[in-house]
Amino acid sequence: MTRPTSSPDRLAQARKAAADADIDALLVTPGPDLRWLTGYDALPLERLTCLVLPAQADPFLVAPGLEVPAVLASPVGGLDIEVLGFGETEDPYAVIAGRLPTVARIALANRMWAEQVLRFGGLWPAAEQHLTSEVLRDLRMRKGPDEVDALRLAGQAIDRVHARMAEFLWPGRTEREAGREIATAILDEGHVTVDFVIVASGPNGASPHHEVSDRVLEPGDPVVVDIGGTTAEGYCSDCTRMYTLGEPPAEFQSYFRVLHEAQLAACASARPGVTAESVDAAARTIITDAGFGDAFIHRTGHGIGVETHEDPYIVSGNTQVIEPGMAFSIEPGIYLSGRHGARIEDIVVCTDDGIERLNTTDRDYVTLGA
Ligand code: ZN
Ligand code: ZN
Repeated sequence: MTRPTSSPDRLAQARKAAADADIDALLVTPGPDLRWLTGYDALPLERLTCLVLPAQADPFLVAPGLEVPAVLASPVGGLDIEVLGFGETEDPYAVIAGRLPTVARIALANRMWAEQVLRFGGLWPAAEQHLTSEVLRDLRMRKGPDEVDALRLAGQAIDRVHARMAEFLWPGRTEREAGREIATAILDEGHVTVDFVIVASGPNGASPHHEVSDRVLEPGDPVVVDIGGTTAEGYCSDCTRMYTLGEPPAEFQSYFRVLHEAQLAACASARPGVTAESVDAAARTIITDAGFGDAFIHRTGHGIGVETHEDPYIVSGNTQVIEPGMAFSIEPGIYLSGRHGARIEDIVVCTDDGIERLNTTDRDYVTLGA
């Protein structure tokens, strides 16, 4: 269970944003919006848990009676939110409808389950349905100082795992064996959950989201290690570094130089006032000019906070202007199908005049003993 930084301010900001958007209420089921608003890392269950945040009335949270002790032990207990427990034979949707008899425009959490969306649709058949992101996107995207501090701690925690990689990678063991120990290290170094462990060796490195397999690591392998977790404060880490087991292939060394230059160029381009797509272009131009454009098969980055992937997305076509407080990854990659691949990823946060890198280990590839 995470205990995110949360504050009454976020509820007040969200209510104001809902009123400004002419939304009558937000309905927030377990997931990142609920964590961001209240600090409550609720279990997503078939029994309904839902924060109701009306624009013009006090918030309340409906939860199964057996979950109420967990709700009150969470940061919700310190916030001004009425908690309504319901019994096994009661209908929580009727409780919500009773308190919100007339609704014209309602916002449902982006990660709400379909069965809940349909039930809420049935409560107010004439109401317009919107997504909470229409109300919360700007608030969540611009991190406050407490959130930047939390992301910085998350970055330092994952950097400590990368600094220990010689303990986990060597020829003769499988990706899965290495991955299991890396997962333990992610917890030991300051996270409460392991969100993902990618150990992509040799040809597996050409698949950006390969996780682990039973492939045995071989001398000369380049290995993509992309790892992340969530800290006790509720914020996510995400960092990719490259390792080689002894001397890597000459081809790898040459395109890695291109990738390294592209990642640096994208970091150098990121500052207040530029667009998200211009940061993508800074990396992509270098990779394309070197002849590897077709091998860079994904966007340059994504925002990060209480979710690993959130706004702003660093991608062609996104004209979002980068502002101080926005936190996002810069992670270009080059993937040669059937051979190997490489990615370098830092989380950065926009400052008043540039960026702060939250991952600070060396971005060059690290050669481990073969
Ligand atoms: Zn990553
Ligand atoms: Zn990432």
